[in-house]
Amino acid sequence: MRDQARVVVIGGGIAGCSALYHLTQEGWTDVMLIERDELTSGTTWHSAAQVTNFGMNQTMVGLKTHSINLYKELRDDPEYPVGYNYGDGGIRLANTQAQMDGYRQFTSMAAGMGVEFEVLDAAECARRHPLISTDNLLGGLWDPTDGHIDPAQLCQALARRARLAGAEVNRHTPVTGLTQHADSTWTVHTEKGDVKCEIVVNAGGYRCNEIGAMTGVQHPVASMEHQYFLTEDIPAIAEAGHRMPLLRCPISDYYSRQEKGGLLLGFYEQDCRTWGMDGIDPKFTNALCPDDLDRITDVLEGAFARMPVLMETGIREVVNGPITYTIDGAPLVGPIPGKRNAFCIIGLRAGLGEGGGHGWLLAQQIVHGEAQYDTWVIDPRRFTGHATVELTALKAIEDYQNEFRFHFPHEHRPAGRPMKTTPITQVLISEGAEMGTVNGWERVDYIKPTQDFKETLGFKFNEVHDVVAKEVTAISTNVGITEVSGFNRFELTGTDVHSFLDRMMCGTVTKREGRVGLGYLLNNHGLLKAEATISNIPVSDRGPARVWYGSAAASEYHDMDWLKAHIKADEDVKIRSLTNAQTILVIAGPKARDVLSMAARGDWSREAFPWLSVRETHIGIAPATVLGVSFSGELAYEIHVPNENLHAAYVALRKAGEAYGMRLFGSRAVESMRMEKGFLHWKSDILTEFDPFETGLERFVKLSKGDFIGKDALEIRMVTGQQRKLVTLVIDTKHAPAHGGASVRLDGRIIGTVTSGDWGHRVGKNLAYAFIEPEFSQVSTTMTVDIIGETFAAEVIESGPYDPEYSRIRG
Ligand SMILES: Cc1cc2nc3c(=O)[nH]c(=O)nc-3n(C[C@H](O)[C@H](O)[C@H](O)COP(=O)(O)OP(=O)(O)OC[C@H]3O[C@@H](n4cnc5c(N)ncnc54)[C@H](O)[C@@H]3O)c2cc1C
Repeated sequence: MRDQARVVVIGGGIAGCSALYHLTQEGWTDVMLIERDELTSGTTWHSAAQVTNFGMNQTMVGLKTHSINLYKELRDDPEYPVGYNYGDGGIRLANTQAQMDGYRQFTSMAAGMGVEFEVLDAAECARRHPLISTDNLLGGLWDPTDGHIDPAQLCQALARRARLAGAEVNRHTPVTGLTQHADSTWTVHTEKGDVKCEIVVNAGGYRCNEIGAMTGVQHPVASMEHQYFLTEDIPAIAEAGHRMPLLRCPISDYYSRQEKGGLLLGFYEQDCRTWGMDGIDPKFTNALCPDDLDRITDVLEGAFARMPVLMETGIREVVNGPITYTIDGAPLVGPIPGKRNAFCIIGLRAGLGEGGGHGWLLAQQIVHGEAQYDTWVIDPRRFTGHATVELTALKAIEDYQNEFRFHFPHEHRPAGRPMKTTPITQVLISEGAEMGTVNGWERVDYIKPTQDFKETLGFKFNEVHDVVAKEVTAISTNVGITEVSGFNRFELTGTDVHSFLDRMMCGTVTKREGRVGLGYLLNNHGLLKAEATISNIPVSDRGPARVWYGSAAASEYHDMDWLKAHIKADEDVKIRSLTNAQTILVIAGPKARDVLSMAARGDWSREAFPWLSVRETHIGIAPATVLGVSFSGELAYEIHVPNENLHAAYVALRKAGEAYGMRLFGSRAVESMRMEKGFLHWKSDILTEFDPFETGLERFVKLSKGDFIGKDALEIRMVTGQQRKLVTLVIDTKHAPAHGGASVRLDGRIIGTVTSGDWGHRVGKNLAYAFIEPEFSQVSTTMTVDIIGETFAAEVIESGPYDPEYSRIRG
């Protein structure tokens, strides 16, 4: 074993083998894999190893497509062909219209990635899978590429190719410790000696937290026991004359694929259990958990009803093994938060299907700093301090129980709630607030008109549409109040803060005391990394002059790591997170200034406190920092209050608001209003796949200023031309919004993809943002948008159709 390598990947399952192989593909060959036992001796060896193309967003579909293409290439490699049953096809079943709508949306979304799904009716499902009954079935989603692969051969093939490219694979070498040095390099301690390296990758599967513990990290990954069995041969399969497609059943929570002349059936039982929560036996390798078929009786009955032939078919073998889950079901692939030169590829629950793609995107992140797709949906930094062991376990159970039941828009599942609350959460609920969650925080979604009001989840406008309309009317005619919990907020102090921010951000960074400015941070490729509101808070009895850096709720770890990584040794910049210490109350509407003037002493007139100002004050008796900013397009104030004073501030504002008919509103109203103003959401519309010019943020770029991160790359991009342009569309339908991922077409050809969509109540239009081919981005150009299976006319309009002069925001 060498004692040095550029990258050490720990773990030789599909995750580690794929990461190693793809590092060599990206040009880094001084890389090493260390495995405690044999390759694939963790979960990978006993996997059902189905490979599907289905994903709920384009990043997942794209990475799975990469897996499939890679596996086909490995299958066709004459020197080491891998057993890969490609193209049996697969069906995801549905018994509700809302699920069918979802499949229509995913079909449009996948088409934008060049992947052709098909929505089938029940009869066609049964024609393609002759073993299923059509009872209680509406139809399904057909994925023609579904198949399964030999997991051991796959890993061996990847490791073999990596070795041929120069990588080293060390088996039977348990990693026992990790030491990080002052220069951020690592020493990997193993039972066979130490290895010095620049970068470590945790690919430890269900042991990822043992490896995490070596660096003081608890990853939000929990293991669940998961069972499948293999049946005896089924004559009807032979009689069918073709292989059985894969089946995924959200009605009865099971899956199946053909295995020899019988079936493999896997189960997601409600009575499920976590595994290894209190430590894992070191000898558990190439091992299984004891069979427990009693646990799956409920699901089995459903499977029997769907596939009656099972009732007369014997079971040949049962497999019960640990499978990893995270808080939201997607894996953790990317930089480990709070650590330098440390990455992970863990929490894979469909690692055979996805592993090829995850290794690819991870290797790109390690080598180039960023992958070709925006990888936020799999980014380890998307969970912050709330991601405790216990919450992870609860969410893992919930996710397992709902394995094939995708999330509907605006669906917030109940497990692990409430996790993060503010002192007024219960007050808001008592006033009728329906809560959603953002990064673990309870946040007001909308205000229920009656106690027993319940939203019908789905892809169409529903009863919440009118509720939101009333909230928007109240805000735009009088004044509304809401709480924005969990908003990310860093305090930056030191003499070099402004020069540091100037280097980090691509536009003018306001330095004037008492002023606020919005700006963008680019990555080294000139693409959009982060969005931040910079507030220059003057010196006061609460502290020295300081800068607040505010950004999206889930961005705390992401932005903190990016900022800290760029502070130079001789720079005086200190960063402190206030994210969990303060909460924002927003008042918005033409009477907002009156309410503020009643609740806080001082002159809040337009002249004394214009738009984009910041001032420290008291709301009633509560200390607060007020920002004159608006995401709704109305005159609005963000009032930042220490959590211990939040209730006092809320009471004072409510009292002041009484005279102005102030009412509570939620984030759904804000979502609608921000679209009317052309305001963007980080990670919905602001993506690392696009630069600020493509995203319509050119007014936030100042190339004439000094150097800033991403400037050189951005200048090159400006010469090579824009690939896409973000536009605002008006869509000619009232029955549903365009959903993120939906395809935009011209004469049937896909020319772009929707990022956000919602009804604009003040302009009375169905609005969407979409990245489209630039040549079609002129105002008045017409096209069509797919909305849950139908095609609707759409037209490009100017961004921000509501109050384009900004007269309302300025008040
Ligand atoms: C019953 C079952 C059925 C499944 N069916 C499917 C399916 O149909 N399709 C699909 O895509 N996925 C399926 N999965 C999930 C899939 O198998 C996993 O997502 C995948 O195998 C995980 O791979 P991994 O590399 O992350 O982990 P593992 O395969 O567990 O690999 C981790 C490796 O790290 C090594 N390691 C750990 N600690 C150390 C250390 N300290 N030093 C050195 N090495 C270490 C381990 O020995 C192990 O080899 C199934 C899982 C189960 C349990």
